[in-house]
Amino acid sequence: MSLLLILTVVLAVILVAVLFVMAHERRSAAARQTQTEESCMRRVSLFETAVSRTGDGILILDAEGNFLFINEAAKQALGVTASDIEAGRYDEVVSGFSVKLQRESILNAASEGDTEERVNFAGGIYRVRFRRLQQEGARAGTVCVISDITESYKAEDMQTDFVANVSHELKTPLTTVKSYAETLLSGGTSDPGVTREFLEIIDSEAARMGRLVSDLLLMSRLDDSRQHIEMTDGDLALLTRSVIQKLDGPARSKDLALNRMFDEALTVQILMDRDRMEQVIHNILSNAIKYTDEGGRIDVDLLPAANCVQIVISDNGIGIPEEAQARVFERFFTVDKARSRRLGGTGLGLAISRQIVEGHGGSIGLESKYGEGTTVTVMLPVAHGRGMPGIL
Ligand code: ADP
Repeated sequence: MSLLLILTVVLAVILVAVLFVMAHERRSAAARQTQTEESCMRRVSLFETAVSRTGDGILILDAEGNFLFINEAAKQALGVTASDIEAGRYDEVVSGFSVKLQRESILNAASEGDTEERVNFAGGIYRVRFRRLQQEGARAGTVCVISDITESYKAEDMQTDFVANVSHELKTPLTTVKSYAETLLSGGTSDPGVTREFLEIIDSEAARMGRLVSDLLLMSRLDDSRQHIEMTDGDLALLTRSVIQKLDGPARSKDLALNRMFDEALTVQILMDRDRMEQVIHNILSNAIKYTDEGGRIDVDLLPAANCVQIVISDNGIGIPEEAQARVFERFFTVDKARSRRLGGTGLGLAISRQIVEGHGGSIGLESKYGEGTTVTVMLPVAHGRGMPGIL
């Protein structure tokens, strides 16, 4: 009897132990599964964040063209919302931009393999890559990656234009020099007057090429981000007076009245790269001289205020047509190419001036009336407590 009792107790203890172990195993398995699910969710959310951060638009479609994934960048680029997709309006919305990005087209684009296209839509330029998704040998869907290349494309375009412009600007005087030199070498003229005239043309075209090359060198130094503007304390009024003095001769030779409107004793201390700022004032003032007819008038004023100073140069010259005014700060832009060349222009003066002024934290603007005259205003920041005579 007592043996049977002992046996029953032992069996009961074993049963409880087995049940306990089984319950513990179940709890551990459930905990492991929860952990795996949580880690999976974390990975998915990390993947989504990473994909959203790439800046590229990403769409993933299954083999039937249903959306598996679309990130924010893609929605923004294509102008679609989550509710458009849920309501099945994706194709309709996207067709307003480009049929190449409708679901059917995306599936077709990658049907033969990976492809790439340049697509223009909504005012931008995009590179769209289509990648075929394979799973166990069968087609599982398509990944479409949309990258905005508007800026780099424009930069490339500008570079191509720039090289074409430089080549063209150099080719014209080179052709002139070559043809006059050839005429002289072949003994084409025995008249000393004509010979001198030809030599003067060669000299002036060579000078033009020289100006162009030095403007280009200056521009490339300004473009080079490793070269900083050398800011030192200087008197802008003194600098402006010295440029006026230097250009007084050319102004007189055209019978122009060149008026300094600010006080002889004015001083305006600012931080500037003196040589470059001199170039700015020189460019604007020599434009006023070039583009004002004989007997005209040019006024140069300096207007210091608490935090900034304005250099204002106005003329009553030929003026600039309204449609050209926004473009005069572009490299190589001239209203009348032949006239600008004849007057010794390169079409780079205002572009260089703007670059220098902006490098000083300032701005440059222009107002003009065709046939009546032009006013160019340069605004420069003045360090606090400077700029007014006597305060320094
Ligand atoms: P350029 O070397 O040809 O003078 P700029 O870059 O200095 O080149 O000027 C660009 C163009 O803007 C000039 O070709 C000219 O057509 C116009 N322009 C600049 N300043 C004046 C001005 N004061 N009056 C009339 N036109 C001007």
